[in-house]
Amino acid sequence: MCGIIGYLGNKNCLNVIIDGLERLEYRGYDSAGIAYNKDGKVEIIKEKGKIANLKSKLDFKIESNLGIGHTRWATHGQPNNINSHPHKVGKITIVHNGIIENYVELKKELEELGYKFKSDTDTEVACALLDHIYSETNSMEQTMAIFKDKAKGAYALGILCDDHMHHLYAVKKDSPLIIAIGDKEKYIASDVPAILKYTNKYIILDDGEFAKLNPEKVIVYDNNIEIIKKEIHTFEGNASSMDKNGYEHYMLKEINEEAEVIKATTLPYIEDGIDSLIKNIPNLTRFNKIEIIACGSAMHAGLIGKTLIEEYANIPVNVELASEYRYKKLFLDKKSLVIVISQSGETADTLAALKIAKAHGAYTLGIINVVGSSIARYSDHVLYTKAGSEIAVATTKAYSTQVAMLGLIALNLAYHNKTMTKDEINEVISEIRKLPTNIQSVLNEQLEYRKIAKKLYKHNDIFFIGRNVDYALAMEGSLKLKEISYINSQGYAAGELKHGTISLIDKGTPVFAIVTEKAIADKTISNIKECKARGADITFIVSEDLDVKDDFYNQKIVIPTNHKTIQSVLTVIPLQLIAYEIAKLRKCDIDKPKNLAKSVTVE
Ligand code: GLU
Repeated sequence: MCGIIGYLGNKNCLNVIIDGLERLEYRGYDSAGIAYNKDGKVEIIKEKGKIANLKSKLDFKIESNLGIGHTRWATHGQPNNINSHPHKVGKITIVHNGIIENYVELKKELEELGYKFKSDTDTEVACALLDHIYSETNSMEQTMAIFKDKAKGAYALGILCDDHMHHLYAVKKDSPLIIAIGDKEKYIASDVPAILKYTNKYIILDDGEFAKLNPEKVIVYDNNIEIIKKEIHTFEGNASSMDKNGYEHYMLKEINEEAEVIKATTLPYIEDGIDSLIKNIPNLTRFNKIEIIACGSAMHAGLIGKTLIEEYANIPVNVELASEYRYKKLFLDKKSLVIVISQSGETADTLAALKIAKAHGAYTLGIINVVGSSIARYSDHVLYTKAGSEIAVATTKAYSTQVAMLGLIALNLAYHNKTMTKDEINEVISEIRKLPTNIQSVLNEQLEYRKIAKKLYKHNDIFFIGRNVDYALAMEGSLKLKEISYINSQGYAAGELKHGTISLIDKGTPVFAIVTEKAIADKTISNIKECKARGADITFIVSEDLDVKDDFYNQKIVIPTNHKTIQSVLTVIPLQLIAYEIAKLRKCDIDKPKNLAKSVTVE
């Protein structure tokens, strides 16, 4: 969601902070700001809108070696210059990611003490609280410890104190924050890529911990203000993996990386045939119940996982939206397996659901892309997808790797449950080996997809229909289109249309109909014909084995046939590329769609 960066060392902090904020831009934001040490005093500059607006207000000739910067994704109060961060109250200046849930009560208490507030934010309240505690303790360490007891909710804070302008402070709970270590310089950041240009060594600040940084060292404290030793991690990627590599948009680059990342994700589990599959995924058959919890596209991947696990391993699976899961009655115990899926590993709703599932005694398995992220660390076991850095807000390659991983889990469960033979599984594994080549052949049809996009991009309502996994794909195709092109769209179960939604189908209404499953192909085709009879413009997306010459569609996309456990990885590509082409024709900000953020770190 928002981005935080802080720096102290011997470089000009304005350059480092602006560069870091630009690298965090993909997370989504509506305003940006910076606070820095100017001759021993804090100077704050903030601007609504793009980082370029902020940049135009800065004098980069100023020599300053300590500062904090922020891109805000407003939760409390409009995106404007007053509500933007940093906030300063008394001697304390902060940038904040997250939500202080008890800010209304705190604000009242602080107002009674004489504090006056300029903004509508929860952040300014947190800032005043810190200032108040500091005025009583005169110690930043004690201030952060007491703050943690009083503030409820989620926060990652970068803090400056007027009395200690040679230190940078940080505290966090439920929002991501890392501390990066350079030679005689230190950084704080929302994620590692923001500082990769300078160093790949970093510490992960855990919930409830806080830190004091000077250019020479980082001191991390636990709840009892005891100094603790933290592991120093080394990030393996490099800053260039964050570039567009000649593609017009990150989204297009990332779709084109799908062959490569599917290979990287699946290889460890198929390298030596079924032996790798058995060795590298734990036997999860001791559980009598499986729940998959996720948000957005990851939840759509979960729906595919459900179908595959139920069909091939004969185990019932529930799929739940993490944001709903937090507040529903749960039926979990030690015999329950909860699979959580998140690209960033920081999705606030999913993280909260994971914690609840653990508290109920469930065993938790994370399917996560970012190594060392919060969800990865909280899960009992992690299966990492190898999608690499995903910058475009709308997920494509990370989604595909999640689907592939769920296919592998289904095969593993099928092996242990003896619902598939070794030979059957080995046959699927040889199809998985061919997947990167098949993905490439689907990607090569981009011009065809562009033609379809050209025909449809002016419509304001577009439908996606399918059954079973194709229904889950219909929802994903629809979400992709909504996210980046702002076209109203619905992903619908093909058989459900006639129970209401078919009333919206008119002459020329675009309907994408997906058919990749033999057993139900005829049923979906009947539903397509119902739409066609009402004048719909049908784009028929069909696997090669089910291809038919007929007049119930207006245009057709044929994709190679693969085993059902992996078919969806191919089928989703035209949906992603058509959404991309339509958004491009509509001149939308494809990589940074309005109102959306990449890693949703607030509830
Ligand atoms: N809740 C804070 C605000 O609305 C922080 C939002 C963010 O994480 O960017 O200002």
